[in-house]
Amino acid sequence: MDQIDNPLSFVPYEPKKGEEYMSPEQIEHFRTILTHLYESVNHKMIEGKNHMKEEPENFSDPVDRASQEEELSLELRAQDRERKLIRKIQEAIEMLKEGDYGFCQSCGAEIGLRRLEARPTATQCIDCKTLDELKEKQLYS
Ligand SMILES: [Zn+2]
Repeated sequence: MDQIDNPLSFVPYEPKKGEEYMSPEQIEHFRTILTHLYESVNHKMIEGKNHMKEEPENFSDPVDRASQEEELSLELRAQDRERKLIRKIQEAIEMLKEGDYGFCQSCGAEIGLRRLEARPTATQCIDCKTLDELKEKQLYS
C-alpha cells in the first residue's frame, strides 16, 4: 500500500450492534484519521521544500546535472501528488462536516468502513470505482 495513503496505525472501527453507518462516533474516527493524514502529508511537503532549497547547485558536470534535474523532476512530481492529496483530504474533511462523507458520489451507496480506513479520501464505492476504471481503460486503449 502507498505510504502516503496509510501512514497511520489506528484500531479499525468496530461498530456496535445496530449502530448506524456514519454515526457520530464513526465520523469522529474518520476525522481523526483524516486530520493525522493531513498533518503527515503537510509535514512531508514542507520537508520536501526544505530539501530542495538545501540541494547544492553544482551544474559543472553534465552527468551530475542530468541526474540532478531528474531528481528535481521526481521531487516536483511527488510534490504535485502531495498537493492533490492535500486537496482531497481537505474535501473529505469538508464532506465530514456536511454529512456527505462515506457515501458514493456516483450512486449514493455506503462506501464502507474498511474501504474508507484503507483509503480515507475515497469518494466512490468499490463498484463505481471499478466501473469507472474499466471505462477509462476502454477509452484510452
Ligand atoms: Zn457507487
